[in-house]
Amino acid sequence: MGSLRECTWILGLDKFRVVEMTKANDAPDSPIRLVVERRGLRRYTCSGCGHRTGRVRDQKARTWQDLPWATHPVTVVYAQRRVRCRRCGIRTERVEFADPKARVTRRLQQLIGIDCQSMPTSHAAVRHGVSWGAARRAEFAFLRRWDQGRPKRRPRYIGLDEIQRGKGQHFWTVLSDIVHGEVIGLQRDRGEADATALLTTALTPAQRARIQAVCTDMWRAYLAAVRAVLPSADVVFDKFHVLQHASAALDNVRRREFFRAGAVMREVGRGKRWLLLRRWKTVRGSKRRELEALFAVNRPLFKAYVLREQLDRLWTYKTPQGVGNFLLGWLKALRWQRLPEMEQLGAMLVTHLEGIAAYCFHPVRFGVVESLNTTIKGVIRRARGMRDEAMLLLKLKWATAHPIRSARDLKRFLYPSELHSNR
Ligand SMILES: [Zn+2]
Repeated sequence: MGSLRECTWILGLDKFRVVEMTKANDAPDSPIRLVVERRGLRRYTCSGCGHRTGRVRDQKARTWQDLPWATHPVTVVYAQRRVRCRRCGIRTERVEFADPKARVTRRLQQLIGIDCQSMPTSHAAVRHGVSWGAARRAEFAFLRRWDQGRPKRRPRYIGLDEIQRGKGQHFWTVLSDIVHGEVIGLQRDRGEADATALLTTALTPAQRARIQAVCTDMWRAYLAAVRAVLPSADVVFDKFHVLQHASAALDNVRRREFFRAGAVMREVGRGKRWLLLRRWKTVRGSKRRELEALFAVNRPLFKAYVLREQLDRLWTYKTPQGVGNFLLGWLKALRWQRLPEMEQLGAMLVTHLEGIAAYCFHPVRFGVVESLNTTIKGVIRRARGMRDEAMLLLKLKWATAHPIRSARDLKRFLYPSELHSNR
């Protein structure tokens, strides 16, 4: 009996004791079966309402996979009771060390879940000796428990953005907290109805009331959805998207000049597309000289490049008047330059001036927005082909909230005290 007491101690499931231990054979990796029984009071908790009762209808031995003992996989066997509950009728009793219907213990679930965040599900499944499906379910349960257990934040600024889904014209709409840099919600497609649904379901009324500004691109469907659901919030256009339009205009100038100009331009300009689209401050050394050579033979291209570079200053003013004056000056410099592409860009900037100047009142951190997008794209690329939206959203939340930053965090996730006890 002494050895069973030690087994109980090693197993460490609160309020359960080992009554029988068997091994399949003498191999170093033979499975261990541990039959456990409750110790103390013979009263059972209803899994429906949490009421405790002593009226047992029947019992059935069930198994749970648990953490291995050295190289031996461990199966916990317990005769789970069905109780007659006064409120719910016949229900199974609640078992503290596992989720209802789960076939692995909660602490194993936790371990698989954490591993899945840094390795493919198939690897985590092999590592813990479970099937791929079981690993996936464990990961889902782990992530959902984590998500439900953390406080709901009420950010001042949120972001609404589209992310390409697979190849072609398929998109996700992603809603994020751009103060803390975390994903809040996910919706298939990017129509007005999709964005509206996302804003209403992913945010509580209290969260919506707190929002001061929404950072988004100039996509009309999103703007309409924001106006409808968050009438008092301002729209701030994402700097990255605005500059993307500017780069597209510059690229159009390059294409036109390349075909219009003579042999010299074609010689110097060939294969310079990506160099030209880069920002001046990121271009170094010999590459700078290449650009300068290109600008020396083509003045319109030089002019367009300078105009694009100047647009950075749109986000340096403290007042909307300052932004407006700068844009007027910019448009004036454009006059007589015969750059229709840049003129089109100018017209677009004028129509969207309010959303650009809103940055004066809502200094959104564009760096956070951009790094969020990078993380999201990484997760979606790795989860290629994932059909399960709820799972993808949880994975995005985890990756962007980044809850394990130190050894102490990891320890907290690996050995949470409340997981296998009901205290
Ligand atoms: Zn009940």
